[in-house]
Amino acid sequence: MKLYNTLSRKIEEFKPINPPEVGMYICGPTVYDYSHIGHSRTYVNSDVLIRVLRWLNFQVKSVMNITDVGHLTSNADEGEDKMEKKAKTESKSILDIAKFYSADFWQMERKLNIIRPDIVTPATEYIQEMTELVKKLEQKGFTYQTKDGVYFDTGKLKDYGKLARLDIKGLREGWRVEKREKKNPTDFALWKFSKKDEKRQMEWSSPWGIGFPGWHIECSAMSMKHLGESFDIHTGGVDHIPVHHTNEIVQSEAATGKQFVKYWFHSGFLMVEDEKMSKSLGNFIRLQDLIDQGYEPMSLRYLFLTSHYRTTMNFTYVALKASQEAYRKLKSIVAGWQGDKSRANKTSNLVFKFREAVENDLNLPQALAVVWEMAKSNIPSMDKLELITDWEQILGLDLLKPIQLIKVPEEVKKLIKNREALRKKEMWAEADAMRKEIEKKGFKVSDMKLDTVRL
Ligand code: AMP
Ligand code: ZN
Repeated sequence: MKLYNTLSRKIEEFKPINPPEVGMYICGPTVYDYSHIGHSRTYVNSDVLIRVLRWLNFQVKSVMNITDVGHLTSNADEGEDKMEKKAKTESKSILDIAKFYSADFWQMERKLNIIRPDIVTPATEYIQEMTELVKKLEQKGFTYQTKDGVYFDTGKLKDYGKLARLDIKGLREGWRVEKREKKNPTDFALWKFSKKDEKRQMEWSSPWGIGFPGWHIECSAMSMKHLGESFDIHTGGVDHIPVHHTNEIVQSEAATGKQFVKYWFHSGFLMVEDEKMSKSLGNFIRLQDLIDQGYEPMSLRYLFLTSHYRTTMNFTYVALKASQEAYRKLKSIVAGWQGDKSRANKTSNLVFKFREAVENDLNLPQALAVVWEMAKSNIPSMDKLELITDWEQILGLDLLKPIQLIKVPEEVKKLIKNREALRKKEMWAEADAMRKEIEKKGFKVSDMKLDTVRL
């Protein structure tokens, strides 16, 4: 199996440290807001990686964090704690905020058939491991203290920016020491002190004073706790390369003297209609928004599989619609295969092609092309069924789940009839109101074929 490694910027042969075991850490969400479809893409991509590895008989142990403290509004240790800020604006406890948005995240994951990680680690449950790690760094002379926290001294390292290929010299040249307490622009907080005039909901005592852990130390402490000081794969979105993952590497390697992670797997970003997703731009799309518009979650998963995980992907409704159509077509073709008994076992070419695609740095667009080639081929249905059953372990598209035909209730039928009558009389506004009434009952009318499907 070949996999691109951000560390080397090369596609490498995947050789785990202790085969067939594979330790994998997935950078999880900060649960202060709803998850959007950009998150969905990153987690579908790491899900595909796990599925491919398991399909190739590796024994994967996956760990994912839930960040419920310490992630500041600026990734560079400045600004407010995202969780504290949200709790304040919603006048809720942090526990309630974390519970609510974690539930939203897991619901999104389930709907997209993302396999739940083996171990889930909320940051607030690992404070002791984090302080132990900071103590270790302190003993080794990698830390210093300022008025607002304990910092990692990146000036002690020669290869600080190796993951992101950062221009450290350039960064240092543009940095003015006056008025700042940090020694180097790239130094980052390991432990932040609570402000004297502010009462935080989440704070702990530590050898350095009352406060909370830095976001980066969380991932290092929790991953090493469950996967050991050196492990195989760490995943996340590309935005985490220059700061978060760079800092995870240096603090972990400074503490242990060992290589932290062998393969860094980064997912390309999802843009929406060519723009970055943000609430202020009004293009912050959740999976639930798509479901409310009549799209199936599997259409989104299908759409993600049509682009390579490392590309920047541009989400458009045109593309989603096309994916929904392709997905439904494929599913109905698969449904037609059941029950046929004849077999020819002439599948080796397709088996080879599919495997070659997924083993080649997870080329899922290519693998999907092989699925269609197989679907359109004239090999017997039983062979097709056997292949798709095997490949579904990776695709996770519910292709073998029966298509649900739902009986339209009498009251909905009546509303449809009434709406049709209104349309005939060209009473468009009234007909539109009737359509909304029908949608409230969970059904969608399509004027193309005058059929009804459940939303
Ligand atoms: P966060 O909760 O912001 O730390 O994000 C959780 C994960 O989703 C991280 O691995 C991010 O890199 C990833 N992510 C956030 N926004 C996007 C996006 N628009 N496209 C792809 N991945 C994203
Ligand atoms: Zn992380």
